[in-house]
Amino acid sequence: MESEANGADRKPMSILEVEEWRRCAHQMVDFIADYYRDIATFPVRSQVEPGYLKALLPEAAPEDPEKLDDVLADVRTKILPGITHWQSPSFFAYYPSNGSTAGYLGEMLSGGLNVIGFSWISSPAATELETIVLDWLGKLLELPQQFLSCGGGSGVIQGTASEAVCVVLLAARRRSALKLMAQGILECEAFGKLSAYVSDQTHFCVQKAAQIAGVAANLRVIPTDSSTNFALSPSALRKALAEDIASGYTPFFLCGTVGTTSSAAVDPLGELGDIAQEHELWFHVDAAYAGNACICPENRHNLEGVDKADSYCMNPHKWLLCNFDCSTLWVKHPKFLTDALSTRPEVLRNKATDANAVVDLKDLQIPLGRRFRSLKLWFIMRLYGASGLRSYIRNHISAAKHLESLIIASDRFEMVVPRNFSLVCFRLKAHEDDSARGNTLNATLLEAVNIRGECFLTHTILDGVYTLRMAVGSTRTELQHVKDAWAIINHEADRLISIS
Ligand SMILES: *Cc1c(COP(=O)(O)O)cnc(C)c1O
Repeated sequence: MESEANGADRKPMSILEVEEWRRCAHQMVDFIADYYRDIATFPVRSQVEPGYLKALLPEAAPEDPEKLDDVLADVRTKILPGITHWQSPSFFAYYPSNGSTAGYLGEMLSGGLNVIGFSWISSPAATELETIVLDWLGKLLELPQQFLSCGGGSGVIQGTASEAVCVVLLAARRRSALKLMAQGILECEAFGKLSAYVSDQTHFCVQKAAQIAGVAANLRVIPTDSSTNFALSPSALRKALAEDIASGYTPFFLCGTVGTTSSAAVDPLGELGDIAQEHELWFHVDAAYAGNACICPENRHNLEGVDKADSYCMNPHKWLLCNFDCSTLWVKHPKFLTDALSTRPEVLRNKATDANAVVDLKDLQIPLGRRFRSLKLWFIMRLYGASGLRSYIRNHISAAKHLESLIIASDRFEMVVPRNFSLVCFRLKAHEDDSARGNTLNATLLEAVNIRGECFLTHTILDGVYTLRMAVGSTRTELQHVKDAWAIINHEADRLISIS
């Protein structure tokens, strides 16, 4: 009897029986809704120690099927403690990872349809919607026509800004290597002659892309300092170019950033673009975080000069309510990407491709397979409207401005660089007799704040100065969460100063 009852109990989940799927998916939606409801009860930064999970889970997969309830119970007790809660309204670390009702619904639909849209015929709507929504978003950003489909350009969704820069670097490398090969230089030698330019504030993904492309040996990292608020100096770039040309290198690639990862510095795109055009460099603009703010007319000036770029990238998954992953890349000349990345295997041959009647988006990215990510963007643009998205950005920026005013008004804290967008870089002022120039003090303060679990911020080092970074941009962050975090920071600063 007993074994029979157990047997019925252990009826395995169907592989995909529709009504059961409906019931389980509802259960999962409830689980996630409860998570969002209760998110403030968790420490924002996970407090587990390395290796914590191995001690909690079996060493091998179960031979017999288990029940969903048991799996979810383990998620609650074993996985959630090891989660750092990026969706918490008190998450101020790194840059945010946005999610939203509309973004999540798009993500869910994409997961449900589960198509692999590598070529047009593999799901025509996936390719065509992507082109349409990237034109929509490009227009919200007032990108020049040449980036849009009507102007001969192309938008394509990549997983991350790292993949985007890798793709354009490979295109740029091929374009320049071909010119050298036309002069009789062998391909394997050509790569070694190519030099690329970034600043010391450029995201490390460009370094990684250069390693992948085999051009890292001649990646020039131009130093910045506080005199330009850590923006890339055009004169320093000119100097580096002149030196390389004199030494026989062929400069081929320049990356400018709008909103650097460390301090949200903005490189002067117009001047950099002029230099790029003069030297026939591929000019890529990385605006992963701050580009999103440029849908608001009052922030658009940060993109001035983007008309001189060859490619532009930003991450709606960072700050435009689009669940991860969604990195939007626009290029003026998709041909250079397809020249570098296209393949035409027999197994994928079809009438539309053979007739050159369509773009196959596999040729504008590194992998073959690709998700239907444009659904998320389409949903957020339709369900919030441009006005909703703009006011979303404005709320964060205004909360960040408020924090900046509190820091400026306080006599013991100081801004390290002026606030840009919604990133506030600040620190406790150093005592004159502090040999560590306040660096140890601020590092101790940061850990004291984060260990409490009520909010989470991270740090950077600017010109040797240990700096606290507070990025205001989580989906549900409101002014009150910023004020609460400021109160905690002050409370911990009081304690630190009273101890020392
Ligand atoms: C976050 C960030 C990146 C990298 O983001 P991924 O999409 O995770 O690759 C690149 N550049 C800047 C300026 C960033 O802020």
